Amino acid sequence: MVTVVGAGVFGAWTAWHLHQAGMRVKLVDAYGAGNSRASSGGESRVFRMGYGAREHFTRWSVRSLPLWRELCSLSGEEIFLPCGAMWLHPEGDLFARQSVEALTAHGVEHEALAPGELSSRFPQMRCGASHAIYEPHAGALMARRAVQVLVRWLVAHGVVFEQRQIRSDEPIDGPVVYACGPWLPRLFPELLGNRIVPTRQEVLFFGVPAGSGDFGAERMPCWVDVGSQYYGIPDLESRGFKIALDKRGPVIDPDSESRTVSTEVVEKVREYLAERFPALASAPLVETRVCQYENTSNGDYLLDRHPERENVWLAGGGSGHGFKHGPMVGKYMAGLILGTMPVDARYSLQTKLDCGVGTVASSL
Ligand SMILES: Cc1cc2nc3c(=O)[nH]c(=O)nc-3n(C[C@H](O)[C@H](O)[C@H](O)COP(=O)(O)OP(=O)(O)OC[C@H]3O[C@@H](n4cnc5c(N)ncnc54)[C@H](O)[C@@H]3O)c2cc1C
Repeated sequence: MVTVVGAGVFGAWTAWHLHQAGMRVKLVDAYGAGNSRASSGGESRVFRMGYGAREHFTRWSVRSLPLWRELCSLSGEEIFLPCGAMWLHPEGDLFARQSVEALTAHGVEHEALAPGELSSRFPQMRCGASHAIYEPHAGALMARRAVQVLVRWLVAHGVVFEQRQIRSDEPIDGPVVYACGPWLPRLFPELLGNRIVPTRQEVLFFGVPAGSGDFGAERMPCWVDVGSQYYGIPDLESRGFKIALDKRGPVIDPDSESRTVSTEVVEKVREYLAERFPALASAPLVETRVCQYENTSNGDYLLDRHPERENVWLAGGGSGHGFKHGPMVGKYMAGLILGTMPVDARYSLQTKLDCGVGTVASSL
């Protein structure tokens, strides 16, 4: 029996791959799959393939997508919405050039949009002199629902689920994977206290104009504005136009943190909306969320064996961009445990340096 502690996106997909390999699996979560405190508990997440020079993430996006689609067809749920994803960037941007190289190398369909073209395709955005890379087959994942659907499927197929808080020193027979997101540094303070830093991230949803489909997934892709670091997701399932800033907030305690957004952030976002999306300048704020990134020093995930405990494995460090890669994280972890996957040093503990909040990598 393999025990997976944490039923977020990393733990649930690890359980899936272990189960597919014929292992008996127990999945344990203190607060429930995709709960409101978990990093996977948000409404939606961007699924993109472009990652600048970090081609290994483009590769994992390409390989994760068929597994997300498989989950959609197994469950009959619309978990992935292929509304596309778009990067707004200044002319000659290095990140954009490197993304195009990786997308081309992996055969990912994409278009480079010049300012005039951008404005005529997406007139609801005021794009100024921005250029864009548009990935028509990218889109959005319904995050919380995806995790809950996956866990329900696992339970229906023999995986044992238990709602319980597990201590890191609890004796457990057989392999145990701690996929505890922002709780990992607290469970293993000496090892991970400074290697994974959870930061507070605020997410806002604005009501779209009555009777207008301009901000829905039919007419708007997910988007990232490289210069300002704002990003957004269209009005999915009529929950509002989602917008957030990708800059790291203060360090967060995932158990006790207040989940109320600050008025300062609301005001800043409104200024940005007025500039980029004038029709939403005075849109009502209809929902908010406070979530956390689990940052590593270089933005690569931590997927490794515990250095002193033979049967203990660690999966975390999603760094604000890990949701989309859940299927490949799970595949890699299951492969490590079963001894069928070559180790990639990039995901090792050794490559995770001590990081202060100021030194963590960006999600982009
Ligand atoms: C605002 C925001 C926006 C993001 N945007 C994107 C995006 O657009 N695209 C993208 O790909 N990614 C995005 N991410 C990142 C992504 O959501 C995370 O990387 C991912 O969800 C991390 O999943 P996880 O399974 O590691 O952690 P979690 O989802 O936090 O799961 C950990 C689980 O462990 C459980 N747990 C903890 N301790 C214990 C214990 N002792 N015993 C039992 N259970 C325990 C918790 O209850 C929790 O359910 C974003 C994150 C945030 C916060």
